[in-house]
Amino acid sequence: MNNYFIVLGAGKGQRFSQKKPKQYFNYNGKTLIEHSIDKALKSKLFKKIVIVISKKYTKYFKKYKKNKILIVNGGKERVDSSINALRRIKNLKPKNVLIHDAARPNFSIKLLKSLTYHLKKNKAVIPVINSKDSVKYKIKNQIYNLERDKSFLTQTPQAFRFKDLYKLTTKEKKNITDESTLFIEHNYKIKFINGENLNKKITYLDDINVSKTFFGVGFDIHKLIKGKKLYLGGAKIPFHSGLKGHSDGDVILHAIIDSILGATQKKDIGTYFPSNKKKYKNIRSKRMLKPILDNLKKNNFYINNIDINLICEKPKVSRYRNNIISSLSKLMKINKNNINLKGKTVEKLGLIGKEKAIACEAITSLTKYD
Ligand code: ZN
Repeated sequence: MNNYFIVLGAGKGQRFSQKKPKQYFNYNGKTLIEHSIDKALKSKLFKKIVIVISKKYTKYFKKYKKNKILIVNGGKERVDSSINALRRIKNLKPKNVLIHDAARPNFSIKLLKSLTYHLKKNKAVIPVINSKDSVKYKIKNQIYNLERDKSFLTQTPQAFRFKDLYKLTTKEKKNITDESTLFIEHNYKIKFINGENLNKKITYLDDINVSKTFFGVGFDIHKLIKGKKLYLGGAKIPFHSGLKGHSDGDVILHAIIDSILGATQKKDIGTYFPSNKKKYKNIRSKRMLKPILDNLKKNNFYINNIDINLICEKPKVSRYRNNIISSLSKLMKINKNNINLKGKTVEKLGLIGKEKAIACEAITSLTKYD
């Protein structure tokens, strides 16, 4: 058993749109990367597990026994990371090495056994699955059909003889998306084995299925006064009056801010923007929203949807609904389909009925990923 298992986990996962790289997100009870490490350990097929990461995340691996794992600093590109790992273990004279993307947590131990078994007679063993989607490719603006029966998709872990992998990887330092690419380009004979349909790569936040959902509700009301501009949801609405307030009086944004603060258990808008502070005099409410949204992102919250009741006789919500939703969608960087705005009149009753005030209620649903 002179096998080593390399997990590549230094990627930033740009398509994931979160601050923390996806490999440290909670996925079915542990971080994404731990799934691969734990399975490799459990298989007892490997002398050491080589974890290639950005050094600042070393704390995530404290629980592992030092004699079983090696932590290697990742490089700029994937190929730099593989080279760092291969160089690190060269002196240990490995015979075989499996190389794996941390973004695939769902392979089986059976697959590890099959890969190492086939390495006895082959220099490279690659798991593949058939594409269920039709694939086209383009050469100079001409589109071709790729025959589905003859095309397949490569997965990781991929298994190699160390010697060959080391030679090919370090020779030309090419930017590749998987190691089999190198072996194919150099006409090496490759043993393809059946991959696993469940062994999908986690690329987008939606792929992660463990999360917590929260709700928060917000309410606000402001008096209407002549000669002030009217802002609703950040959009300027043509109207004879505007909303009185320390800020621009945007009831929709204020109710949304409070609903977000509610969902994240962060008290209320007055705590962050006290109305006696000069600093916030005449502030546009979108500037109040910004730090609240930044905080959501920092803490891995993601807005699912917002539902709003705008309570007024006039202006007519139906006329400005699209403007307001577009403005909110832009300000909050969420899809228009996730925002709903309802207009509600009050049968001419009270201050609102007499067109002397506008009120708003909002509810926000958030999901926390970690
Ligand atoms: Zn307000």
